Amino acid sequence: MEVLAICTVKERDPSFKLQGLLAGQARLPASHPLFPVLAAKQSALEAGIGGEERVAEVLRKCSLPFEHQIFHDLSPASDECFQMDTYVFTPWFGLVLEAKNIAGILEFHDNPPQLIRIREDGHQDGFESPVAQLERNCELLRDWNVRHNVKLPIYGAVVVAYPRQIVAVAPAKTKVLFPSSITSYIKKIPQQSSKLEPETFNWLSHELLTSHRPFIPKPLSESYGIPFSDFIPGVRCFVCGRIGMVKLPRTWHCPFCGANDHLAHVAMFREWFLIFKRSITNQECRWFLGIEDIHTASRILQSMGFPSVGAFRYREYMIELF
Ligand SMILES: [Zn+2]
Repeated sequence: MEVLAICTVKERDPSFKLQGLLAGQARLPASHPLFPVLAAKQSALEAGIGGEERVAEVLRKCSLPFEHQIFHDLSPASDECFQMDTYVFTPWFGLVLEAKNIAGILEFHDNPPQLIRIREDGHQDGFESPVAQLERNCELLRDWNVRHNVKLPIYGAVVVAYPRQIVAVAPAKTKVLFPSSITSYIKKIPQQSSKLEPETFNWLSHELLTSHRPFIPKPLSESYGIPFSDFIPGVRCFVCGRIGMVKLPRTWHCPFCGANDHLAHVAMFREWFLIFKRSITNQECRWFLGIEDIHTASRILQSMGFPSVGAFRYREYMIELF
């Protein structure tokens, strides 16, 4: 029987890391010494996301002749943090896919675990081994299953997401797949007679989903050691994208394009969280939003409903993204 139902249970989360990099770069002068580093990191992240999306696209189109569920970008709560690019869950087995999207000729070395990329000009770059990452993820998922009293064989494979990736040296024990071979690989995984009962399968799927914790990266300034004062403060206009909206009694006004937006500050707390830190004081709020009046800043902070600690001038508001 061909099961054609859409089986994607969870899509990718938005990448806070990418959002932080974009927001941070938009607030740094182009001459800042770390600008090229951030831009390179952004490209690598975008390529990675592109690879994961390529895998998701293949899985959306594939039809497997047995029950299965697909989770993208899943981080089940556990003692140790782990994040799976893609998890194919069936009553017979689980399959963890780790997508890699690095152009060039690839050599997977096992000892020590490393991925070497050889560019067209012969230049070599070393990357963290996706094999080591995959093995760790499989191990942590097995532990997670054990803690839920479930025995399920767990398989893993690395997916090189684009054809311009050439695998010159494959890892000794780990399967490397191209997107086009994912479906046939899944169909060949043995299905033993023992399988999860439908109630257990559905319960475990629900547990995976509810235990998922989105990945919250460290603030950009902390990750890259950039002082707060290097960033340009101000409220961004969402019509023209420029920074410097002015606070009027009931709204924010953009002096560049004339747009008004009474909620323009809301998205700025998200930028603060991603660039600077998880909490904000009245003084920091005034600096970042470009307002002088302490009471206006208080009103804005209180309107956000953030929990606060401390009193008066020592009060800090804890920003919650969710
Ligand atoms: Zn504007």
